[in-house]
Amino acid sequence: MNSSVEIGKVYLVGAGPGDPDLLTVKAHKLLSVADVILHDDLVPASILALAGPRAEIVNVGKRCGAKGATQPEINARMIDAARAGCTVIRLKGGDPAIFGRLAEEIDALDAARISWEIVPGITAGLAAAAALGASLTDRRKSQRVVIVTNHRAAGAETPSQRDWQSLAREDATLVIYMPGHDFESLRNQLLAAGLSSDVPAAIVSRAASHDQSIECSTLGELAALSRVPAPSIVLIGWAIDSAVRRALSKNVASLLAEAELILSR
Ligand code: SAH
Repeated sequence: MNSSVEIGKVYLVGAGPGDPDLLTVKAHKLLSVADVILHDDLVPASILALAGPRAEIVNVGKRCGAKGATQPEINARMIDAARAGCTVIRLKGGDPAIFGRLAEEIDALDAARISWEIVPGITAGLAAAAALGASLTDRRKSQRVVIVTNHRAAGAETPSQRDWQSLAREDATLVIYMPGHDFESLRNQLLAAGLSSDVPAAIVSRAASHDQSIECSTLGELAALSRVPAPSIVLIGWAIDSAVRRALSKNVASLLAEAELILSR
């Protein structure tokens, strides 16, 4: 690392999508020296295992309605640990600045005059595109990438019909975080916003983990796809067309191979 690790500082670190090999070298180094690591649920044990032996590791995440630490409690923990002279890591899945309440934590640290630094990570949308084998900005088909959430968080609205109209364009690739399970209403809103039903769509579940899975289709058939385990990302747009075709033809080839095997028995 170019700069030395500072005590009494909070490092806001991205853990990447799950595979420890996709951590940055800087994140890895910080994990090995941090005194306190406050992490979200999405961070797997294989990454926490890279922490030094004396690190205090605290799960401050909350998933699926389970009771976790509140945002003020997380802020207070970061501030108290930094004031006590600890090197603190606030470890978040993917990139800490993408749908991660990072700005609120920075505000709290600034208010408490604690120094901080962001260490970026590979965000799930990019890991999902890599898993699918697609370039989100294939210049022949896409001039923009829209990173959006379909989740209604406290105080933040899910994209309204009007939003989808400005976001859903055929020259854009949509990367939808927290897509939920109501793909029928997502499909209907995107169709109503003007996208055609044959725009390619993919759902990537648990990208960059050992149980990663990918479902491919078109926007029109989005609701017919089988339910995949969370966390998942939905990708929609013509930029993923070849990758979707490749994935579908691989599926057909493996189904045919399976059928041949059964028939040969
Ligand atoms: N800061 C994170 C996003 C946090 S929001 C990042 O940059 O990736 C949580 C959402 O991210 C999940 O609901 C899901 O949509 C997505 N996500 C996180 N990890 C994922 C993974 N390994 N595979 C697919 N989606 C993932």
